[in-house]
Amino acid sequence: MTTPQKISRFLPLTFPNGNRISRFAKACPHCHGMVTAREMEGLARLLHDKIVLAAEAECPDCHRRFPVTCVISDDKRVHRVRMPLWLFRIWLKLALRNLPEPQLQEDWSVPEEAPRAGIRLANNAEITRSSEVLGQFDGTPISAWLEVDGRRFVFERALPPAGQLCLSDSELLFEGKLVYKPA
Ligand SMILES: [Zn+2]
Repeated sequence: MTTPQKISRFLPLTFPNGNRISRFAKACPHCHGMVTAREMEGLARLLHDKIVLAAEAECPDCHRRFPVTCVISDDKRVHRVRMPLWLFRIWLKLALRNLPEPQLQEDWSVPEEAPRAGIRLANNAEITRSSEVLGQFDGTPISAWLEVDGRRFVFERALPPAGQLCLSDSELLFEGKLVYKPA
C-alpha cells in the first residue's frame, strides 16, 4: 500500500535526464500565501519521465485546505491536471501498483504485498539439467530445460543484474538469474 505522506518526504526526485525536483510549492488560492511541500499530504512519484503529484494542501496562513494535482515534466515545468483529487489519487495508485517501491526516508511504509516470486525451489529439490545448453548468462550456462522433482521447465529469460524480480506464479527462478516456465 502507498500511504499518503507529506510531499516533502518524497523529495528530492530525480528525472532520468538528471533534472531534479527538491522543492515544491504552490500559492494558496485563497490568500495567495506560499504553501510548501511540507504542508501538502499525498503522493508524489516518478513515473517514467514525469513526476505525478496528488496531494491535499493546508495553507499555513489561512488554514484552508485545497487540492494539488499536477504532473511535472522533466524540463521541470508543472502541468495542471484537470481531474478531481480523489480520481487522480486512484489513477496514481493504479499506475504505481506495478512499480517497485523506492527506497525512501526511514519511516516510509513498507509495502504489504511482497513482489511475486514465482515457484520456490525447495532446498532438497531433485534437479536434472538438460544436456542441451543454450548459451551462457553472466557466467552461468543456460540449460534448455530443467526437471524439478519430475516436472519439466523450459528456459524463458534471464534477469538482468539489477532486474526486478517479478515472476508469474508459474515461473521458476534458477540460480538467482535464470527464469524457467513450465514446459
Ligand atoms: Zn491561504
